[in-house]
Amino acid sequence: MKCMNGSRWAHLGGSRLIAYLVWAIVVCSCLMAVPNVAALACEEPLCGAMRIRVGIPCDGEVRLGSASEAIPLCVCEGLELSHALFRPAEDGSIACVGPDGVCTILSSPVVVGLDEGASDAGNARSSLIWLDDKKAVYKGWFELSVNADGDLSLVNVVDLEDYVAGVVPYEIGAFSPFEALRAQAVVARTEALSRLGRHGDEGYDLCSTTHCQVYKGAGAELAYPAVREAVDSTAGEVLFHGGIVARGANYHACCGGLTESEGDLWGTDVPYMHTVRCGRELDSTGDGLDMSEEDEVRRWIQTPDPDDYCYGSNGYRWRVEYSQEALSKILEPIIGLDASIESLEVAARTPRGTAVRLVVRTSAGDHEVSGEYAIRAALGGTRVIKSGVFVVNEDGNPPTKFEFEGAGYGHGVGMCQYGARAMALEGYDYISILEKYYPGATVGSLKP
Ligand SMILES: [Zn+2]
Ligand SMILES: [Zn+2]
Repeated sequence: MKCMNGSRWAHLGGSRLIAYLVWAIVVCSCLMAVPNVAALACEEPLCGAMRIRVGIPCDGEVRLGSASEAIPLCVCEGLELSHALFRPAEDGSIACVGPDGVCTILSSPVVVGLDEGASDAGNARSSLIWLDDKKAVYKGWFELSVNADGDLSLVNVVDLEDYVAGVVPYEIGAFSPFEALRAQAVVARTEALSRLGRHGDEGYDLCSTTHCQVYKGAGAELAYPAVREAVDSTAGEVLFHGGIVARGANYHACCGGLTESEGDLWGTDVPYMHTVRCGRELDSTGDGLDMSEEDEVRRWIQTPDPDDYCYGSNGYRWRVEYSQEALSKILEPIIGLDASIESLEVAARTPRGTAVRLVVRTSAGDHEVSGEYAIRAALGGTRVIKSGVFVVNEDGNPPTKFEFEGAGYGHGVGMCQYGARAMALEGYDYISILEKYYPGATVGSLKP
C-alpha cells in the first residue's frame, strides 16, 4: 500500500469492491450447483486477491504502529508515522495522535497500512502492523471508522491465506501434529468462505471471536513455522460436497465419542455433518442411533471407550457439582430471587443425546430453557458445562446438591479437534481426517 490521499482512498475502495464482486461470483457460482471443482477455478491474480474483512475488538481507542523501523505506517491523506493513537473525535471524525503528540483530525473511514515502497529486505516482520502497544501483529491493513453509537470500529483487511494462518493456531493449537494443522486450515478456509458477510451490517465479514473463528493475527505463525507450512501446503483448498463448495465446516474441541448432527441440533440438515463415531471402526456413521433417553446418555457417559480418538482429552468426560444455593444464584436471571430449585429435567434431547430443552422446576413455578448453547450458558457457562451431553444427579428432596456428569467439549458438530490430533499422531493425513468427520465431503481447490 502506498500512502493515500483522498483519490487513492477511492481507488482502494474500488479495488475492494472488485474483490467482493469476484468473491460473490465465485460463491454464487458454487451455490448454483456448479458441476465440478474445475468449474470453480478462478484465474490468478483474482484468487490471490481474496480478502477477508475481520472485525477486531476495540475499546474506545486504538494504537497502531509499524513493526519495522524502516517502513512507516501510512495513514490516509498522506500521513507517515511510526505509530499513532486513534480515537473518535467530533462529528464522526477520527483523531490521529502521532508520536510527537501532534493531533490530526481525519474523516471516517481511515485506512492505515504500510508503505510497501520502503525497503526492509530480510525482515520477516517488515509487513506487519502492531496493535495496542505491540501485543499483537497483523498482516494486511486496517480500516477505522466511527459507528452509529460514536464508537471506534476496527477492521483488519487481510488475504484469505493470511487470515487462515491467524485462525489455525488459535483454534486447534500451534503444537498440534502437522496433519491436524492442515485439516484445521482446510476447515477454517471453508468456514471463512461460507460465512463471508456474516457481519455485513457491522462493516466486516467475520468477527475474531469464537462466534465466527478466533483470529489473532500473525503472531503465532511467526513463532511456529509449522502453522504457515500447513496453510501454504493446503492453499486454496476447501471442502466440497455434491460438486460445490461445502456450505460450512463446523468443528469443536472434543466429541466424547460421537459427533452431533447439524440437522438434529440446529434444524438445517447438512448431509456431511451427520453423527459419526470418533473411533477406529471402518463404518463410523451414527445413522439410526437413538440416545435421546436419559438412560442411554448415562450409559454412554459412564462407559468411556479407549478406542475413541478423543479418549482422555479435555472434556472427554467431565463433572460439575453445585449446591442448591450456588445453582439458585446462577439460575437467578431465569428463576428469579428466593425460588428454590426442586428438580432439573432435560425434556428433549437430540438422537445423539444433546440436551436441547431444559425444565427447571422451582418452588415458585417451572421455567424452560431451549437450545444447547442457551442451556449451557444458563447453567454456569459453556466452559463449565462443557457440552449438552449431560445427566443430572440430584441429592436430597428438595435437592441440596446437583451433580452434572457429561461427555464432550463444544457443540459436537463436524470435526472433533482432539480426535483429529489423535488421528494425525496415528499416521493419518489431513484428507483422511476430513473424510472421517465430514463423510461424503471431499477436499478440492479453488485455484486452477
Ligand atoms: Zn462472528
Ligand atoms: Zn471425538
